[in-house]
Amino acid sequence: MHAERLARTREAMAVAGVDVLLLSVGPDLPWLSGYEAMPLERLTMLVVPREGGATLVVPRLEAPRVVERPEVFSLRAWEETEDPVAIVADLARSATTAAIGDRTWARFLVDLQHRLPRTRFTRAGLVVGPLRAVKDDAEVVALRRAAEAADRVAAQLQAGEIALVGRTEAEVSADLGRRLLAEGHSRVNFAIVAAGPNAASPHHEPGVRRIAAGEVVLCDFGGTMPADGGAGYCSDITRCVHTGPPPAELADAYGVLAEAQAAAVAAARVGVACEDVDAAARRVISDAGLGAHFVHRTGHGIGIEEHEDPYVVAGNETPLAPGHAFSVEPGIYLPGRWGLRLEDIVVATPGGPDPLNRVDHDLVVVDA
Ligand code: ZN
Ligand code: ZN
Ligand code: ZN
Repeated sequence: MHAERLARTREAMAVAGVDVLLLSVGPDLPWLSGYEAMPLERLTMLVVPREGGATLVVPRLEAPRVVERPEVFSLRAWEETEDPVAIVADLARSATTAAIGDRTWARFLVDLQHRLPRTRFTRAGLVVGPLRAVKDDAEVVALRRAAEAADRVAAQLQAGEIALVGRTEAEVSADLGRRLLAEGHSRVNFAIVAAGPNAASPHHEPGVRRIAAGEVVLCDFGGTMPADGGAGYCSDITRCVHTGPPPAELADAYGVLAEAQAAAVAAARVGVACEDVDAAARRVISDAGLGAHFVHRTGHGIGIEEHEDPYVVAGNETPLAPGHAFSVEPGIYLPGRWGLRLEDIVVATPGGPDPLNRVDHDLVVVDA
């Protein structure tokens, strides 16, 4: 798996004219090597020359965490008294162009630029991003397992098994997170719980407000599910419930939203541009006179990262390819009043769009 990814990465490096790839914290490293760098002050960096062996430069005390993959890299553990930037610079010294991981700490890039004054630096995301966006079969399996676990938590929410009225948003958020872990996730990435007028803020931070009867509760949650090969894969789902029967205006808006979401999922066929999937959702909401209240893109790619290529947004002409995995999550937000969003993860396949989340798409009424 990793050796094959390394070969494809080297082909992309050749096309992009990149002589060496430098990967540190962030998702590119686990995708390519199975190892995730600790996001700490000591430098971890995989040095991948276009030809010749790759080297994982890692702090001595973190070396025991590394699962060695000799077909992909050799290990160079550095001692506390060594300068890891000098070690990387030495390995990369003949490079005219280096592509460095997008999330590498700026201090290491600045130090490397001093050490390699004749090397031009570009972003590794430009080389690895399009490769990572197209999932192989094992990655689709991992995303499906993550989605099924998230679906089980959403089903508990819709069945009224998660108490809402009288609890704070933060308490319900923590509850959702515990349930994601209980369903097999190793990490909770976010658990937005936004009730009543708070739901009009798409990235609301769950707070001390107590959930009342007769309001919408928007829950958008996801985490990372362990998978074979070292890197985990993300889930991300949004469902809204209503504590007691919803008012007609809100129920009508939800009907528009559900229609928009289904239209965008149906549009997500191989060969269709990402921006046309966005347009499919936006058209339904605009036709209902609510277009001004759909204030974000329709979706984002998902994989090792919760947000990655391809972005489902106007202006992105990238045609969908088999293996592209992304969210479809239109929303309608009325500031000061309420907000609604409906989100599934979808994979583009030759047989048509494959939604990984299958739990009920209705605005489910739970006991007030
Ligand atoms: Zn979001
Ligand atoms: Zn989400
Ligand atoms: Zn999302």
